[in-house]
Amino acid sequence: MGILKGKVAVVTGSTSGIGLAYARAFAGAGANIVLNGMGAPADVEKERSAIESDFGVKAVHSPADMAKPNEIAELIALGETTLGSVDVLVNNAGVQHVSQIEEFPVDKWDAIIAINLSSAFHAIRAAVPGMKRRGWGRIITTASAHSLVASPFKSAYVAAKHGIVGLTKTVALELARSKITCNCISPGYVWTPLVEKQIPNTMKARNMRRDQVINDVLLAAQPTKEFVTVEQVASLALFLCSQDAAQITGSNFSVDGGWTAQ
Ligand code: NAD
Repeated sequence: MGILKGKVAVVTGSTSGIGLAYARAFAGAGANIVLNGMGAPADVEKERSAIESDFGVKAVHSPADMAKPNEIAELIALGETTLGSVDVLVNNAGVQHVSQIEEFPVDKWDAIIAINLSSAFHAIRAAVPGMKRRGWGRIITTASAHSLVASPFKSAYVAAKHGIVGLTKTVALELARSKITCNCISPGYVWTPLVEKQIPNTMKARNMRRDQVINDVLLAAQPTKEFVTVEQVASLALFLCSQDAAQITGSNFSVDGGWTAQ
């Protein structure tokens, strides 16, 4: 039987990409799921109902905005009231903006810090009391290779992703005797529809072949010259939910094809 049978997982930003892969991996292990994120209602409903029919679990969707602390509290409350608990919390919602520091829009800085960093604080704060009461919990945050190294023009993203590692270590220490672990997963470049869609335009703009765009532009920093898959990231998250991972806490796991080994 699945290792998460009877448990409930809340995954922020799970209407696409990495978050959706986490949700499907946890559902495959028996968890009921709270999906969160934006998207056309019909697309979100398609993913939600597919989780229920593919894995025989319950799945609900919350449109809570991860920039709004009260909506984050409501998201956790939804898991507790509608599905009975929040046993696994994955802080995954994230946005990006690329601009040099002196022109970096202040509203973009504020939004990235709110969605990529503060949302994890608010969600963890709301979810921990229930986890403590039940004596078990798993908190995982999608950080990034940018939690370990920087790239120019991504000041807010890099600051938020470095910050999340500090939050993770602190929470891990506070919860070390409560059978609740708290870890980060730090992917390099992950193959998502978002990335795939950039390729034709970049080929045109730079007059490059597809393989040149992939190797020399997108995967410039990634030594394997291969994308990480969403399933590879989700498999690690599922392992972190297992009993075998009970002593892994306060860690930050790179899944980046060697990027941060350089
Ligand atoms: P994505 O754009 O496919 O998914 C992002 C998700 O977050 C979507 O479900 C979106 O609706 C949701 N979201 C965005 N703003 C939100 C808000 N205000 N409130 C609630 N939900 C919101 O991106 P992804 O590539 O799957 O990224 C997921 C996480 O992985 C992010 O934290 C990102 O920083 C991180 N990451 C991605 C990569 C990559 O190469 N794709 C690499 C390293 C880290």
